This record gives sequence, C-alpha cells and structure tokens, in this order.
Amino acid sequence: MSARKLRFFSSIRTKFALTYFAVIAVVLVLVNTYFLVASRNMIFRSKQAFVQIQASLIALNLGDSLGMLSAEEDVLRVMEQLDVSGITHIVITDAEANVLYDPDGNSFLDGFPVDSITRTLEGVVKYNTSFYNGSFSSSAFTPVASKGEIIGAVYVHDEDREQGAILLDMQSTLRFISIIIAGLSVVMVALIIWSVMRRITSIFNAIKSVREGQYSYRISMSGSDELALLSDEFNSLTDRLRETEEIRRRFVADASHELKTPLTSIRLLTDSILQNEGIKRETVHEFISDIGQEAERLARTTGKLMTLTRLDSHVQDDIEIVDIKEAVNATLRMLEPLAVNNGLLLESDLEDGCCIMATEDSVHQVVFNLIENAIKYNKPDGSVFVRLMVEEDKTVVLTVDDRGVGVPAEDLPHIFERFYRVDKARSRGAGGSGLGLSIVWDTVQELGGKVTALRRVGGGMRFQVRFDLVES
Ligand code: ADP
Repeated sequence: MSARKLRFFSSIRTKFALTYFAVIAVVLVLVNTYFLVASRNMIFRSKQAFVQIQASLIALNLGDSLGMLSAEEDVLRVMEQLDVSGITHIVITDAEANVLYDPDGNSFLDGFPVDSITRTLEGVVKYNTSFYNGSFSSSAFTPVASKGEIIGAVYVHDEDREQGAILLDMQSTLRFISIIIAGLSVVMVALIIWSVMRRITSIFNAIKSVREGQYSYRISMSGSDELALLSDEFNSLTDRLRETEEIRRRFVADASHELKTPLTSIRLLTDSILQNEGIKRETVHEFISDIGQEAERLARTTGKLMTLTRLDSHVQDDIEIVDIKEAVNATLRMLEPLAVNNGLLLESDLEDGCCIMATEDSVHQVVFNLIENAIKYNKPDGSVFVRLMVEEDKTVVLTVDDRGVGVPAEDLPHIFERFYRVDKARSRGAGGSGLGLSIVWDTVQELGGKVTALRRVGGGMRFQVRFDLVES
C-alpha cells in the first residue's frame, strides 16, 4: 500500500490547469494592452505628422507671400489660395499675438492656448497629441518667419473622433473575443483534464487490482496517445506477471510432486520393514537398498532444483576461460561404466583449443546432462558420439549424437521445459526428474550460447550447443 497522499497542489490536474490558465491570461492581457497601445501610438504619430505638416505648410506660405502679418484680408487671401481642408481649427496671429485668422472663432473659446502662442512667437515649435473621451486631439504651433524674423504664429488643431471610435470599437471587440477565448479555454481545459484523469484513473485502478493479485486484469483504452501506449505496456507487463506466476505455481506443484514420490516410497518401504515382524534378512537388505536409491534420487532432484533456483536469480559467478574438452573427457570417464552397463558404444572426436568464457561447473552441467541423456535414452547395442570442434566463424560447437529412442516430433518443442518428460515411466526409471535439459537451456542462455535439439534421420537425437570461442 502506498503511504503517499495526493495533494491538491501536487496533482497533475491542478498543475496543468494553473499553467494553462496562466498562459492564456498572459496572452489575453498582452493582446488587450500591447496591441491597443501599439495601434494608438501609430495613430498618434500619423496625427502628429499631419498637423505638423499642415502648420508648417501654412507658416511657409504666409512667410513667403507676406512680408508682414498685419491685415486680416491678406491672411484670408493666402489661406483661400492654400485651400487647407480636413482640419478642425486654424488660428493665425501676428507678432503681437493678435488673432488675424480664426474662421471658427476658436480664439474666444475657453482654453485658447495663449501661452503656447506667446512661446511660438519666441520661436518655439510645439506639437501635441492626446486621446481623450474617444477622440484624438492633435495640435501644432509653428512660428511664421519672413527674412529671418518671426512675424506671426500658426496654431493648427485637429479633433478626430472617427479614428477614436475605431480604436474604441477595436478595444471592445478584442475584449469580447478575449472573454470568448477565456470561456472556451476553461471548457477545453476542463474537458482535457477530465479525459486525461479518467484514463489515468483507469490505469491506477488496474495497478491496484493487479497488486491485489488479479493478474488477468486488462486495461482497454482507445486512442494512440501516451496513455494508450502506457496501457499496452501495462497489459504486456501483467501478461508477463501472469505467465511468471503460472510458471512459479506449476514449478512448486511439480517440485512438490517430484519430492513427494521418493518420500512416499521411503515411507512405504520403512512401514513394510517395521510392520513385518518375521521379515527375512535378505528382504530387509533389499528394502534398505531401495530406500538408499530413493534417497539418492531425492538428493539429485533437490540438487537440480537448487541449480535452477541459482540460474533464475542470475547470480553472476566468476567466469574464466574453460576448455570444454577437459569437461567432456572428465564426463566421458565418469559415464563410461554406465554406457558399458547399458551395452553402448561411447565414441568421441574432440578438437583442442575449444575454450569459452564460463565456469567449470556450468560447462560440466551442460556436458554431463547431454551425455547422460544420450546414454539413458538409448537402446541396447546403441551408440553415443560426442564431437567438439571450432567452426570457421570462431564458434565452439559441441554435438552429442545418439542412436537411441529419440523424441517424438510433438514432444520436441517441450523437452527444455521444467519437469517435462516424454516417457514418464522410462525417465523415472532412469532416475530422471525432467530438469536436466532445462538446466542445460538456462545455463547455455546464461553463458550467451545457443542449444538446439534435432531428431536424427533413422532414429536417435542430436543435441548441439554453440558458444563464442575465446582464444587462450
Ligand atoms: P530427465 O531428468 O527426465 O532426463 P531431461 O530434462 O534431461 O529430464 O529430459 C527431458 C526429457 O527429454 C526426458 O524425460 C526424455 O524423455 C527426453 N530426452 C532427453 N534427452 C533425450 C535423448 N538423448 N534421447 C531421447 N529422449 C531424450
């Protein structure tokens, strides 16, 4: 059981939602401020340039046409010739700030910029633009000069409500779009989070179920996103777990059975001796010898089980360069009496220099089990042939051929499985436990080699093991 508790701020849901909302908020604020400020500045600049050009144009024409600014009619005439249009107010004064031209009577309105006119007459050029009450207000003050002398001032003022209205309109449209985007984002985020959380929850529940032992639990998730891939991985992992659990269960059942059989025999034999008072000495001797054989079988089986457990735990023993020829010769010497006893011909052809990286014990396990099987599952007057050689691609090949009983084709794919026996009676009779070939398989795998089993034409079997050569 996990001791961890899901906290609100640590949850992916909260983090995702907060991040998303923060990004959306920043984008909307930027769009609503930066974009509007940039457009307003652009209009400011164009308005300023407009009034500035108009004021300069008027001042230049007045200065060029009139030497002095004194008569209203002269100014009016110049202005009519100029025909300035699109400007809200134009005021022209003489050098004493007396208004000579003011078609809209602006000079008498409140706020006529007398101070600015006075400063203009002192030679100061001034421009100003502001946005107020939905309107762009731009003004320009320019002195009128003639022959290097200031003879008057021009004040141009323009009020643009149209562009102001466009800007305000744009502002409210943007605000409206922002509200829609924000609303849609909330809905979208809620939907995404809901869908992701639903999928995560189903993975979570699956993990819980499997943890509680339901190895058959499978997640069915549509789509092809990361969570769907994760679910597939989870399902394969569960399948693997189920297989491993099944193998473990079968292994325990088989192992118990294997151990129970000799124990039952021992029990029966001892009972027979104990309950049979007038039992003959020779019979007791026979029974005790049987008990000894059963005990030996028990020791062999437990020894093999321990070897398999060690192989399963993948404990890396110290590996060294091992010459397979030595292991084969030692095994042949050991099994020679058994072969002679069974009336078999045991032959070999062993090349020198067949060295591999392994442990002596592991090589012995492989060689011994294969040659012992070839002798055990043979026929009277049969033969066993062991060949050891190095192939051109620097592979060491150990071949164990026999002319024995062979393995039926349907059993061949299973013979490396644990506790698998083709002929149970024969195997048990020969002292087999069905573990020898699985030890060979696991050991060869552990050493990075390959083992194959073939039915020989004309009867018998061929077992072949391949390892990478190590040049000593
Ligand atoms: P066991 O300890 O019973 O010999 P193994 O794992 O060594 O178990 O072998 C599994 C089965 O494969 C044996 O029971 C036997 O039927 C079959 N087998 C193994 N080697 C040979 C062989 N050389 N010829 C015929 N059958 C064989």
